[in-house]
Amino acid sequence: MSFILPDLKYAYNALEPNIDAKTMEIHHGKHHAGYTNNLNAAIEGTPLAAKSIEDILGNLDMNNKAVRNNGGGFYNHSLFWEIMGPNGGGTPTGDLASAIENSFGSFENFKEQFSNAAKTQFGSGWAWLCAHKGGKLDVCATPNQDNPLMPGVGCGGTPILGIDVWEHAYYLNYQNRRPDYVSAFFNVINWDEVAKRYNANR
Ligand code: MN
Repeated sequence: MSFILPDLKYAYNALEPNIDAKTMEIHHGKHHAGYTNNLNAAIEGTPLAAKSIEDILGNLDMNNKAVRNNGGGFYNHSLFWEIMGPNGGGTPTGDLASAIENSFGSFENFKEQFSNAAKTQFGSGWAWLCAHKGGKLDVCATPNQDNPLMPGVGCGGTPILGIDVWEHAYYLNYQNRRPDYVSAFFNVINWDEVAKRYNANR
């Protein structure tokens, strides 16, 4: 079995002005495609080729750099495209909204904690909102293409929202202004998709 680069469910320019079309095109068509191809090359002919990406990452040998970097890159970007959308922004509703209030005190507190995690991750990486069994939510950041599904990484649990803070995710439009990119990201979050992932993993 080979992993396949997922199609975007919206056009490259659909997230403008928050994320520009050129960045989306390169990010999806070059970076994510590269992680996908390199993951397939790394697992070809090994027992990992028969496993799901969640299974591969959850039982990962962290010394396997090719699978760690490219499997993480494949999974992280697949999540990233889904939790954004052209009709995004606003605030969550329903059980997810309650869980955010229970875990962080308020949506504003969550937003501040998540944004700080994204802004202060040194160098390349991601910030995450993770769901734990029982419904508790956590925020954490991870370097490179690591994610909390991997053994001993970040806050554990299942990532239900993530922001890519590699420079390739924002540099064309924002240059060194990562905080502006993080702020704009909140305008494109697809909270319905985040809620779906929360309900499936709490
Ligand atoms: Mn990226």
